[in-house]
Amino acid sequence: MRRKWWLLGGCLALAALLVWGINRSQERPNHNVQSHPAQENEISSHDVSATQVKAPKPWLKLKHPLKLPILMYHSIASGNQLRVPKKQFAHEMAYLKQHGYQTLTTTQAIRALTTNTVPQKKVVWITLDDAYKDNRKILPILKKYHQHATINVITGFTHKSNHLTLAEMKQLKDSGHIDFASHTVQHLNLDSLTATEQKQELTASKTWLDQRLQQDTKMLTPLVALTRRLTS
Ligand SMILES: [Zn+2]
Repeated sequence: MRRKWWLLGGCLALAALLVWGINRSQERPNHNVQSHPAQENEISSHDVSATQVKAPKPWLKLKHPLKLPILMYHSIASGNQLRVPKKQFAHEMAYLKQHGYQTLTTTQAIRALTTNTVPQKKVVWITLDDAYKDNRKILPILKKYHQHATINVITGFTHKSNHLTLAEMKQLKDSGHIDFASHTVQHLNLDSLTATEQKQELTASKTWLDQRLQQDTKMLTPLVALTRRLTS
């Protein structure tokens, strides 16, 4: 598979998870995106104490901090390095299916990262930044392979012709194969903003999604530095 596991190219840099809201004040494990697939995670126990979250079956406790592979996408198209054509995306999802990977939801990914457990040994998180309208192309592929992806929305861009509308987001969410996280309001370089401006970008985008998609929205921010500050 030509595409790298860590896929650090992207909007601005590595997408780092902010446990925004429920887990905001919780101490988080070191969960850097790693170059090694999840099969290297070692299981310490098969009957785990991840009892805080109800689940149909127990998750596996890891011996070492979770290495969660995140495949980061943007536009499903061709034309530059940030774009991945639909055919290539389908090949990559087929690869994951053939090799037994489970694609996590945002809730599952946060659970995995905060409890150091996994639903199965091979896990991966599929994310698409910026919520381009062409992201609709992935739904049939996800359905075909019974997979899930997370789209990170720039809430101030939903009126733009090349971005998903709210109605389109609702349709994708209703499929059960896609969930939505926040990717700020205006996609600004957060590290260049004041603390007040940063808070506005983070909270306003979360509120927008919370109210319109009826959810407790999590945030994927493009800036590692900001993440470090907010989570430290
Ligand atoms: Zn972005």
